[in-house]
Amino acid sequence: MSLNLSEPSDYTSLDPQDWVAFRAQSHHMLDDMLDHLQSLSSEVARMPVWQPIAETTRGHFRASLPHTPTALAQVHQQFMQDILPNTAHNSHPAFMGWVQGGGTPVGMLADMLAAGLNANLGGRDQMPLEVERQIVHWMRDLFGFPASANGLFVTGTSMANLLSVLIAKTAALGIAIRQDGLRNCPQQLVAYTSLAAHGCIAQAMDLSGLGKAALRCLPVNPQHQIDLQALQQAIERDRAAGMRPFLIVGNAGTVDIGAIDDLHALATIAAREQLWFHVDGACAALGMMSPEIAPLLRGIEQADSLAFDFHKWGQVPYDAGFLLVRDGQQQLDTFSAPAAYLRRATRGLAAGSPWPCDLGPDLSRGFRALKTWFTLKTYGTDQLGKIMAQTCHLAQYLRDKIAASAEFELAAPVALNIVCFRYRGTSGAPSMTAAQQDQLNADLVTDLHESGIAVPSLTTLDGRLVLRAAIVNHRTRIDDIDRMLQAAQRFAAMRSSHLIKGST
Ligand SMILES: *Cc1c(COP(=O)(O)O)cnc(C)c1O
Repeated sequence: MSLNLSEPSDYTSLDPQDWVAFRAQSHHMLDDMLDHLQSLSSEVARMPVWQPIAETTRGHFRASLPHTPTALAQVHQQFMQDILPNTAHNSHPAFMGWVQGGGTPVGMLADMLAAGLNANLGGRDQMPLEVERQIVHWMRDLFGFPASANGLFVTGTSMANLLSVLIAKTAALGIAIRQDGLRNCPQQLVAYTSLAAHGCIAQAMDLSGLGKAALRCLPVNPQHQIDLQALQQAIERDRAAGMRPFLIVGNAGTVDIGAIDDLHALATIAAREQLWFHVDGACAALGMMSPEIAPLLRGIEQADSLAFDFHKWGQVPYDAGFLLVRDGQQQLDTFSAPAAYLRRATRGLAAGSPWPCDLGPDLSRGFRALKTWFTLKTYGTDQLGKIMAQTCHLAQYLRDKIAASAEFELAAPVALNIVCFRYRGTSGAPSMTAAQQDQLNADLVTDLHESGIAVPSLTTLDGRLVLRAAIVNHRTRIDDIDRMLQAAQRFAAMRSSHLIKGST
């Protein structure tokens, strides 16, 4: 069958017919968003950090596919009414859940420009690629990587960690593995990290075909750093069993408490054992921008690959993950593939090889580099580093308040900007069982979310449920910490009095 079309009476374009009206509407939309961002710094004007979504609001998003146009102003109205207030406001100063960045007005504007350009950063000879390469150069400098290093923007560290496992696998087995797969591989490849590693490391082992069982999650010391002796023994045990150790994944900021492994020691073991040394730096690698934090990262410059997120501590709007690889050739060896429709030239638009599509699995890619470039240029790394140190200072303030409190206790050491704590009960009240205490702490987190006052998250440490406040946002202040703690105290007192009544 072939297409049977008649000559259109009028050609359609998606551009506005009335640019003057469109311009006015654009300015209105921009102003609304700036109002929202400005309100975040005002205790009086800002929205709750989260609120339960009304069923009627959800219902608006069960509508059928629109076949006919709706006025832009009306669609924007629905955004303002239904979407904006019902977002997880990780830009809000009282958002301390998980590990999420606050974004900036500058980043927003840059993303608007990027969307306007609609550049596709898969490749070709265009200035947006030079912007991405500029970030690669800057990151080489920041992390002390050599000129041979290459890098790539990806969605986030989950993806960057996966690419690193693939590169390490290809480096270990040779590029023929890309054609043949693992079926002729005589020895099982095994990787090492700590129990405190992020779940995406195991997922990367799964997705790479090596399997989660081939990841050894080793014990940690009281500071939640990988136990080096256990690592050394595991490598020896696996070699003796005929397996092939190939990768060590170090943590620069564990997701639970922000612990930084002894990266220098890991680099030394990896070099001696001839293993690939990857660092998951999602939480803390960018701490290199702070003179106070950088010394804790000693050894990061020895990594074979490094994954991190500009969208966390770097305050770049979502999403902006990054992968840096010491030997750029090994990254090319893992991902580059000839394709007739991607033919390269030495002049014209098809010049400028290698392209980002040779460095990872994505072909079409957005211009994540622009919002990152704007952020680094307009703020400068000194100021960004200062903000990172400021979040650590706030974490120490919260730590000290918890340590001095009768009802709360710390659940882990505070390494950087993350505080884990739990409600333990009031003195004089009958003591709770561990299960009751876990339930109360879980309820406490939900109470705080529903109050709209603050958003910590819940995690499990040593088998127990604890509150986790990750202070990542440049807008957070001491008042926000105090309000969170006061509200937690209030809700906990209510819950534990119910518990006491319930038990009598
Ligand atoms: C956030 C985080 C990840 C995952 O990064 P995404 O950007 O969410 O994909 C991995 N590791 C650690 C330590 C993290 O904190």
